Amino acid sequence: MSDLLQKITGFDVWHLKLPVVSARDHGIGRVSGACEIVVLRLRAEGGAEGWGEASPWSVFTGTPEASFAALDRYMRPLVVGRRVGDRAAILADAGKCVAHCTEAKAALETALLDLAGQITQQPVWAFLGGKCRDSIPLSCSIANPVFEEDIDLMHRLRDDKVGLIKLKTGFKDHAFDIMRLERIAQDFPEFRVRVDYNQGLEIEEAVERVLDVAQFQPDFIEQPVRFYHFDMMVKLKAMTSVPLLADESVFGPEDMVRAAREGICDGVSVKIMKSGGLTRGQSVAQIAAANGLMAYGGDMFEAGLAHLAGTHMIAATPEITLGCEFYQTSYFLNEDILETPFQVADGQVVVPDAPGLGARPDLEKLETYAVGRSQ
Ligand code: MG
Repeated sequence: MSDLLQKITGFDVWHLKLPVVSARDHGIGRVSGACEIVVLRLRAEGGAEGWGEASPWSVFTGTPEASFAALDRYMRPLVVGRRVGDRAAILADAGKCVAHCTEAKAALETALLDLAGQITQQPVWAFLGGKCRDSIPLSCSIANPVFEEDIDLMHRLRDDKVGLIKLKTGFKDHAFDIMRLERIAQDFPEFRVRVDYNQGLEIEEAVERVLDVAQFQPDFIEQPVRFYHFDMMVKLKAMTSVPLLADESVFGPEDMVRAAREGICDGVSVKIMKSGGLTRGQSVAQIAAANGLMAYGGDMFEAGLAHLAGTHMIAATPEITLGCEFYQTSYFLNEDILETPFQVADGQVVVPDAPGLGARPDLEKLETYAVGRSQ
């Protein structure tokens, strides 16, 4: 069967625990040992399969247990038996059946798009408006509490022709952040540097510290204070000519409308795991652009399926101009779950032209890393 009128008959969910190569510290918390994701497989009555990934982080978006339950218990009955092509209606129902759980909603839309792409032999970007770029500049985050290990990573990034790095700040002391910025400026001047506090600054210290960091002229400074401190974001934005990016303050299009109206930022980090899907991520970027704001392709602690979904979304979204951070499969996970590696060449993520997402998971790896499964 090659049409999108066929019904969805299979719905399988895996909860995976994927070992990582090092600890990573962010302003709101640490990831060490492993990161956890949830993988969804849809099957259509003609036998085609579509895959999606939810990549939650408990301190930021939500828990893997919540993603698993949102898919397995609450969305499954809304999806099985529906037509593959009724994507918008299915997603509207999924959006209403469970609050939040944006990562699970992203996994569902990804799997629906992959399935439609496999059936019609078109890449996912073709369903999102078509491709406006063949590659996306890659940024890698510098977030290791042991800075010497990050220096080794930066040598590797330089060898790999990665030109963008994002220094994670605000998880230790201010002197540690300034020392690292000085060291990077001195020893790695070829990198364009971005700074991300992940909400790590207290109100009383934010002004002084952001001004100190701004002296290094990074491309942007991201989310210095807690997501709800809109007034402080407005104040910080007014203080410095370095662009201020909102991340945790803006999940979906509704937040973007408020952020633009209140003038809290010069740009936004767009993540399908925050917006609740690829089309809603496109909406965030479009609202930002319509308000004269920039957009960046952020991500969570993801494996290859989520990287691919984000890549197709950015490939079809001209408003996202600041590159992407799909570095985890290359530089953070011990091993990715895809059959064929997520493609990065000369510091650029390569946009796939193959049907659907362009790659599928290795079932043996799913079995190896599964800590939970439902079908
Ligand atoms: Mg961020």
